[in-house]
Amino acid sequence: MAGYRELLAQVKLEIEEISAVDAQEQHAAADRPLFIDVREPEEWEEGHIPGAIHVPRGRLESRIEGLVPDKERPLVLYCSVGSRSAFATKVLGDLGYENAVNLGAGFSDWKRNGYEIAIPRVLSSEQRSRYSRHLLIPEVGEEGQQRLLDARVLLVGAGGLGSPASLYLAAAGVGTLGIVDADVVDESNLQRQIVHSTDRLGEPKVASARRTLEALNPDVKVVPFEERLTSENVERILDSGWDVIVDGADNFPTRYLVNDASIWHGIPVVHGSIYRFEGQVTVFAPGQGPCYRCLFPTPPPPELAPSCAEGGVLGVLPGIIGSLQANEALKLILERGDTLVGRLLLFDALGTTLDEVTVRRDPYCPVSGESPTITEYVDYVEFCNAPVQI
Ligand SMILES: [Zn+2]
Repeated sequence: MAGYRELLAQVKLEIEEISAVDAQEQHAAADRPLFIDVREPEEWEEGHIPGAIHVPRGRLESRIEGLVPDKERPLVLYCSVGSRSAFATKVLGDLGYENAVNLGAGFSDWKRNGYEIAIPRVLSSEQRSRYSRHLLIPEVGEEGQQRLLDARVLLVGAGGLGSPASLYLAAAGVGTLGIVDADVVDESNLQRQIVHSTDRLGEPKVASARRTLEALNPDVKVVPFEERLTSENVERILDSGWDVIVDGADNFPTRYLVNDASIWHGIPVVHGSIYRFEGQVTVFAPGQGPCYRCLFPTPPPPELAPSCAEGGVLGVLPGIIGSLQANEALKLILERGDTLVGRLLLFDALGTTLDEVTVRRDPYCPVSGESPTITEYVDYVEFCNAPVQI
């Protein structure tokens, strides 16, 4: 019976091997083969070949066909010194992979040559525990969670929509949440604005929201903007750099400002609005779908604006719409699933119905169209203090 050394020597005769120099050359090529790291997780975390995928040796047979369905795809397997990956390369040959080669002297030789390595950032044990339900779904996983932690979302409004949206984004580990709101917490807010509470009455909403969100998740940094969004401050606020804007504005002038700014800055907006029992959600992604002005080019004249006296909203409605907004924001960050770009979702709380309307880009849109007529911020007169109850 052959010992380990004889067996390894035998296997090495049956597979193809390449040197670190050859591997580096192939790695630098445009049609780079897929590098597969078969080492243990601790070894992977200390550094690996950039762009490689990690499949520990023990899981190779069971996972490879799911990860690499194309059996003709060129593969380079490696471990630390080329022994474990020699057996792995042999196994892949047995499984029908026609172009699997072994990096003969392993990752240690790659490193010795001074070639580029990637050191993955790892979640702390607290984060592993906190986000375990995200790590369990492949659409998020560790990479997705890192993306969320790196992400910056700007919430316009810390009211009815901003409350659930910010709570779920903070819970999900979105690392930076900017919040723009000039109001203070009022008793009449608490029927729906669940990021605030009775002991915060009179406190600025941004400060109250910050306390709640940072207490919920210490990974989250809240950047408060205790001001109303205007043409004067919109550039300064957007200059901090945001990946997604969640618009929960309670007035038309702000909505138009957010829209125009998002187009000029190329930032997607998750739009939400509510009135009585009805809510709407959509995503305006610059360059990909319509914007708010494609739907409503200019605000209605003040005399046609909804009467303020009719304001009112079922408390749970912003909870539903704001949660849908958080869902869209998370998908935009993770680049997963189908977002509501080009689709307007209409929810009716009384009938419990959900409808969808297709919305299209307007080539004559005054801001996102082919020959824009609006090229500077417009401060519209506020025609009602609360046309939509948020
Ligand atoms: Zn438009």
